[in-house]
Amino acid sequence: MNRRRFMGLLSAAGLTAALPAPSALAAGRQFSGHPDGSGVLFDSERCMGCRKCEQACNEVNQLPAPDRPFDDFTVLEHQRRTTAKAITVVNRYDVPGREQPVFRKAQCFHCMEPACASACFVRAFQKTPQGPVTYDPSVCVGCRYCMVACPFNIPAYEYDEAFSPKVMKCTMCAPRLAEGKLPACVEICPKEALVFGKRTDLVRMAWDRVRKAPRRYAQHVYGEHEMGGTSWLLVTGVKPELVGLRTDLGTTPAGEYTAGALGAVPMVVSLWPVLLTGLYAVGKRKDSEERKEREAAVREAARREKNEAERTLSEFKAKADKEKAEAVEREVRKALSEEARKRAQEVGK
Ligand code: SF4
Ligand code: SF4
Ligand code: SF4
Repeated sequence: MNRRRFMGLLSAAGLTAALPAPSALAAGRQFSGHPDGSGVLFDSERCMGCRKCEQACNEVNQLPAPDRPFDDFTVLEHQRRTTAKAITVVNRYDVPGREQPVFRKAQCFHCMEPACASACFVRAFQKTPQGPVTYDPSVCVGCRYCMVACPFNIPAYEYDEAFSPKVMKCTMCAPRLAEGKLPACVEICPKEALVFGKRTDLVRMAWDRVRKAPRRYAQHVYGEHEMGGTSWLLVTGVKPELVGLRTDLGTTPAGEYTAGALGAVPMVVSLWPVLLTGLYAVGKRKDSEERKEREAAVREAARREKNEAERTLSEFKAKADKEKAEAVEREVRKALSEEARKRAQEVGK
């Protein structure tokens, strides 16, 4: 079953418009998390908004050229979100009472227990023990429920791709990590605003920085506990909400959060994944039934042909037998008649 057909089934069932709110989502699977995995620490006090990370990301991921070049800083005049063509973006925040603007790089947080993975019933998203949350487009049915589920509004969809659109988000450069390389954005950052390492070390490093310079940093390591923790961490000199970060997420992982929501809205939420899975199964079953019907039709045609052939053969055989019997009878009669004629001749002599 392809994506188009799956979405068609959802639409036909009137479900695309009836998605539950993000607070009441996800399929309820829980993830154990991988505390030994890697992550990245972003320090907004070191970032100067040069956008080199955006450019490096664009290049290593072979994304389309942006509408405006990476050295065009007028893009910073507006807040941007990640898109299918820009899986990381740097935004500028002018904070009242602060002379210098604050820059924040946005991308997937690679949550320890990702809501996107919880919501994905075909398991296209996986939290890997190494840290990255990966996405497998080959199993994705394009329901885009991950986009609804993500509390950070990160996954984007390739709406422009007519044939095989994918969900796009930062991979933490998982292919590069597998080759022993750094994430491209980390490698290029001229200010070392990005540090790659083991998550537990990064948490320690982050707290070292904020404790040693309490006037420079807000006493908060964003991502240490939010939504059960994230592999991409952040320290900043201002309150997180002033650089566009959500502070209403709590510390409950997506899976447990869903369990709570299940209790609150049992009929909608608990039925949703069942319904999705059911629709998917119905589609699959329909495909399978169509295939079975086609096979049965072929078998039936073959059976009819065979029966017909056997009937024709049998008629032909019966006719041949009859003709043969008549021929034998004729020959016997002829022989008897000849014999009678000979005897009559002998008697006449
Ligand atoms: S490359 Fe570094 S300094 Fe430049 S915008 Fe990105 S994170 Fe900030
Ligand atoms: S930030 Fe969003 S897309 Fe990234 S892992 Fe977390 S829930 Fe998934
Ligand atoms: S880790 Fe890789 S994919 Fe993610 S923002 Fe950095 S360069 Fe882009």
